[in-house]
Amino acid sequence: MSTKYVYTFGDGKAEGKADMKNLLGGKGANLAEMNLIGVPVPAGFTITTEVCTEYNKQGKEAVVEMIKGQVEAAVAETEKAMNAKFDSKGEAFPLLLSVRSGARVSMPGMMNTVLNLGMNDETVKVIAEKSGNEHFAYDSYRRFIQMYGDVVMGVEAEAGEHCPFEQVLDKVKEANGYAADNEMSVEDLKGVVEEFKAVVRAKAGKDFPTNPWDQLWGAVCAVFDSWNTERAILYRRMEQIPEEWGTAVNVQAMVYGNMGETSATGVCFSRDAATGEDLFNGEYLINAQGEDVVAGVRTPQEITLIGSQRWAERNGTSEEDRKANFPSLEEAMPEIYKELDEVQQKLEDHYKDMQDMEFTIQDGKLWMLQTRNGKRTAAAMVKIAVDMMEQGYFDAKTALLRQEPNKLDELLHPVFDTAALAAAKELSKGLPASPGAATGQIVFSAEDAEAWAEDGKKVILVRRETSPEDLKGMNAAVGILTERGGMTSHAAVVARGMGKCCISSAAGLVVSGKKMTINGVEYKEGDFISLNGSTGVVYEGEVATINPSLDGDFGKIMDLAEANTRMYVRTNADTPADAQTARNFGAKGIGLTRTEHMFFEGDRIWKMREMILAEDVEGRKEALAKLLPIQREDFYGILKAMDGFGVTIRLLDPPLHEFTPNDDASQKEMAEITGIDVKVIKEKVESLHEFNPMLGHRGCRLGNTYPEITEMQARAIIEAACDLKKEGLDPKPEIMVPLIGTIKELKMQEEIIRSTAKVVFEEKGVEVDYMVGTMIEIPRAALTANEIAEVAEFFSFGTNDLTQMAFGYSRDDAGKFLPIYIEKGILKQDPFQALDQTGVGQLVEMGANKGRATRNDLKLGICGEHGGEPSSVEFCHRTGLDYVSCSPFRVPIARLAAAQANLR
Ligand code: ADP
Ligand code: MG
Ligand code: MG
Repeated sequence: MSTKYVYTFGDGKAEGKADMKNLLGGKGANLAEMNLIGVPVPAGFTITTEVCTEYNKQGKEAVVEMIKGQVEAAVAETEKAMNAKFDSKGEAFPLLLSVRSGARVSMPGMMNTVLNLGMNDETVKVIAEKSGNEHFAYDSYRRFIQMYGDVVMGVEAEAGEHCPFEQVLDKVKEANGYAADNEMSVEDLKGVVEEFKAVVRAKAGKDFPTNPWDQLWGAVCAVFDSWNTERAILYRRMEQIPEEWGTAVNVQAMVYGNMGETSATGVCFSRDAATGEDLFNGEYLINAQGEDVVAGVRTPQEITLIGSQRWAERNGTSEEDRKANFPSLEEAMPEIYKELDEVQQKLEDHYKDMQDMEFTIQDGKLWMLQTRNGKRTAAAMVKIAVDMMEQGYFDAKTALLRQEPNKLDELLHPVFDTAALAAAKELSKGLPASPGAATGQIVFSAEDAEAWAEDGKKVILVRRETSPEDLKGMNAAVGILTERGGMTSHAAVVARGMGKCCISSAAGLVVSGKKMTINGVEYKEGDFISLNGSTGVVYEGEVATINPSLDGDFGKIMDLAEANTRMYVRTNADTPADAQTARNFGAKGIGLTRTEHMFFEGDRIWKMREMILAEDVEGRKEALAKLLPIQREDFYGILKAMDGFGVTIRLLDPPLHEFTPNDDASQKEMAEITGIDVKVIKEKVESLHEFNPMLGHRGCRLGNTYPEITEMQARAIIEAACDLKKEGLDPKPEIMVPLIGTIKELKMQEEIIRSTAKVVFEEKGVEVDYMVGTMIEIPRAALTANEIAEVAEFFSFGTNDLTQMAFGYSRDDAGKFLPIYIEKGILKQDPFQALDQTGVGQLVEMGANKGRATRNDLKLGICGEHGGEPSSVEFCHRTGLDYVSCSPFRVPIARLAAAQANLR
């Protein structure tokens, strides 16, 4: 038997069904399924995605030859089901067709729908005669020429001009004073049809095809061709949709919403896609066809009475006006409304998800044209899943698996009040570097941000770009706006970590001194602006924001995640405030506290620099003694905020030159403050210069060359823990040695830590449980993990460095080539965002297995940026890690991803 290329549906029968999406595309599979469950759907057929694949291999002629017989047979069946005739010369009512593309997932860039296919100068007359409605016949004809001319024949607007078809329509409307297309008289429509044909001839260089079969093959091939348009290819690359999937073509009998006042067309949702409210809703237009509803040529009306009343209230329309001019479908066509309501309920019950549906009413009869699981906001995603679970549609497992972890991000940050946003003036658009909404007064330096914030003001820090020295100012600001930098710039990365709204590379923004201009308009310190970090839009003035709620349905989903997870989630936090935020989001401990950030605050940096500049051990010890109480206080705060949970504190990691002043002015300032000769300072700074700082004198190499640093930090941690213990709390410090490559490096550090702890315990007269462990971030550490586990009580995979060193990509320089690599398909994803499971993943797995072979209760976690990325979280679950650690605002996302990994 020959291969089946065409699947028919109609009259309550179908050759396909819902689970055949791969072969029939989403739209085709659901059209078949709706037929099978007794929903009224116009008959038609689907040409399979496999034909598209053949089309790309064999080309047009061969494929048309291949499927011709099956298509002709399917058209004949459609004719029978609809009691109409394609290419009718008057022997029956003409069958007109809609031709639509339909891939497995809906895809922008694919061919738009062509309606009313099969029309020509003869059929239009037959339709007019048999329907007794000449207006309808010619309205359909002019729609067909316009759509086919545009979509299949490529008639386009010249640059800067309106679409040539619209120009014709505008001219006619203007000449007669019509407000809308459907007011045109039959004579007008006939004139428009002729003018449209002339437009096609002029723009496409050939006549509009009159033979319906030529029209059909033209449209079918145009669908296949659209699989390879630039836009479609780009979208597939972005969404990682395989080339081989192909698109199906759906050919279906037309039903007519433009037959007069008893006809209509519309779009509806079984629940509210914005809020998730369990309320049927949608819009319709009387005497209209398909695209009119979305095209916005006329104001669509609400389907339900309640929707209509809400619309009137928002719109300021009186009840009288509403009833007379904008009645709901429920009021205008109560019987049909009832049927539609039943159908939407049936579809939702059947698919067990919120449905997005399209329908047409032809002269008092309802037809469904499409159904699919509706797209929704994060709020609706959460609410619909919880409601449907509680309504008994499905269990907790399904409710959890229905969540898209990354989308939760939308729910965690303050958002703009929708009405306020609609009224706000847009100033610029940049990269949506970190989501959230912020409104405040502009300041231009980190110090000002801090000072103003201390005075209780909400500030937005505007910088050309940011550096580590801006950290405190960034923290004090409610939002950050930069002139330069990409999605992985310092500002972007740090802001995301802080869960702070940030826009980078804002178009038209120029920052100079205490001034900025946006497209030539000047703004001063203290002026108000607002940032939408989720869209990248900058607004003028203050825009009201609202805080998200973490209980309600969101809380329920999080509780379900908690009950269904094996792996737990920690956070990366350097301050008690961050620790608290993360704890509120459900973090169970800290996976990474970086001690170096603390050294930048206030005048601490001077003490740090004093230590760096010290001539000898004695000098260093003296300076370190000054840092000790400050560090102890920091650790005290963090351990207290995470009381009862493990807190991993990493010893000093970055190369020392990051702490020294690099420009003349700050070196002079330093000389004044310390009393050290500026020449000495310059020499010291120079001596710290390294060719490859990331591979240089950093991590445990610092602690092993300057053991007194490790000693001070260990002391600060243990003293803080002892103090808390005395207060009756339960601190659980885990001291982490960074950048280990050999067992000896760790062993030496461990000895210092343990002997220091012993001394402190004696001094304080109290003991605390603590652990000593290490980061696994150098490939050699992963390879020799069995040795390292002899000393380490825990491993934390530092996947940022591990990725950097496994690939040999410098994270700070990768911006130059990574985007190009991804564009060219050399890499599928940025390995710094999603863990490279095939390569770097092997190191993690090997480290975990070898480590546990030596020490079976070895505690394992991950603390790179990957800890908050769902596919990486799933990998960690499979690899048997105990926890993942991520920035505070990613904690809920990681918790959900961990539960999903456990349920899959
Ligand atoms: P989209 O994917 O943009 O929704 P569709 O392929 O679903 O595009 O079709 C666009 C419009 O065409 C729909 O709104 C629908 O109302 C109309 N349409 C599609 N098929 C038919 C048909 N057989 N009869 C009448 N209208 C149709
Ligand atoms: Mg549609
Ligand atoms: Mg590291």
